Amino acid sequence: ALGSTNTLLLWCGPPLPRHRSDAQFEDDEVRILFVGAGLSGAVIGRRLAEAGHAVTLIDSRAHVGGNCHTERDAQTDVMVHVYGPHIFHTDDREVWDYVNGFTRFMPFKNQVKTTSQGAVYSLPVNLHTINQFYGKTMRPAEARAFLEEQADTSITDPQTFEEQALRFVGPDLYAAFFKGYTEKQWGCSPTELPASILKRLPVRFNYDDNYFFHRFQGMPENGYTPMIAAILDHPGMDVMLETTFTPEMGAQFDHVFYSGPLDGYFDYRLGRLGYRTLDFERFSETGDYQGCAVMNYGDRDVPFTRITEHKHFSPWEEHEGTVCYREFSRSCTPDDIPYYPIRMVEEKALLARYVELARETRGVTFVGRLGTYRYLDMDVTIREALDTAADFLAHAAAGTPA
Ligand code: UDP
Repeated sequence: ALGSTNTLLLWCGPPLPRHRSDAQFEDDEVRILFVGAGLSGAVIGRRLAEAGHAVTLIDSRAHVGGNCHTERDAQTDVMVHVYGPHIFHTDDREVWDYVNGFTRFMPFKNQVKTTSQGAVYSLPVNLHTINQFYGKTMRPAEARAFLEEQADTSITDPQTFEEQALRFVGPDLYAAFFKGYTEKQWGCSPTELPASILKRLPVRFNYDDNYFFHRFQGMPENGYTPMIAAILDHPGMDVMLETTFTPEMGAQFDHVFYSGPLDGYFDYRLGRLGYRTLDFERFSETGDYQGCAVMNYGDRDVPFTRITEHKHFSPWEEHEGTVCYREFSRSCTPDDIPYYPIRMVEEKALLARYVELARETRGVTFVGRLGTYRYLDMDVTIREALDTAADFLAHAAAGTPA
């Protein structure tokens, strides 16, 4: 997991002068504005409020929770992951204890399936996938040796997504499960993407079909939004929804934590950082549409990447109806919701220039997925938020710039 040293901790000056003598604040209170009421803002804000700071969070949306937002479908009562599926998994005991302090987590094991070339297989690639794909009955050591024969062992230090795939699963499994899916997901060739994207997925030589390796996994009993609302439920915290940030607003606070898009803070003056956005084609049915929560589609000629059936994310609930999303990925225009930072060579160069601008900006800390332009899992976001809050409070207590 990434630590707080990877966040842009940019509180590097004395507090900004106070521009308002608003009677609602005590004179000795430190006033902090959070732009964005997602996970980062909620977790940092809560720690700062607990330390006695006056915390205000604004969000341009009509709900808290950012892209983790969940809500029940009015017709079916199914809990819907409005901005796409979120599954909580972590090895970080402190983060696990933290989230469990705000909601009850129910057991959830992510068992993803994929449809490819007219058949359904289990992901991540495991012994069942390999045996089914090749029509064999290999045991673990045999499968390992077999895949090693398929693999391109001349690739010693894989740099690209394609090299990583050819080295570890060979050309057949790569073509069936990864090439087409990745072209759809990222809108470019896997030869242009870093190996790190594929490294998120394990290859297993046993029948374990858990998508994640992590020790702690689960789903909040009533969805993510009540969990985040509970984090925000503190007398030192005010939340204002449907409120857009302006620099004038920021000037009324001692410090700003900004979890909106980094380039947006600077009015895109150096250009736009690239994102992929997602379109969800939502449909409802009765019964069970696909028998699992996530069905990927590896074939290039199927236009969507996957179908998610949301009631299977809450397997302890029973519903007659069902709500599904067909998920399409495309490049993000200024009017779209940004999801995945692209982080290819061009974007990295532009990012470096924005980071430089951010470093020069006093009194603002850029946090979270959009504020630091990184693809963050929820547990990493919380870990970084806890560390960022601790750093901020330590520096505030010492009266030194962070
Ligand atoms: N991927 C793929 N086929 C799949 C699932 C994933 O090619 O069936 C690739 C794809 O490029 C994706 C990456 O592996 O971006 C990482 O997968 P993960 O499930 O972590 O993606 P997420 O949707 O969580 O970003």
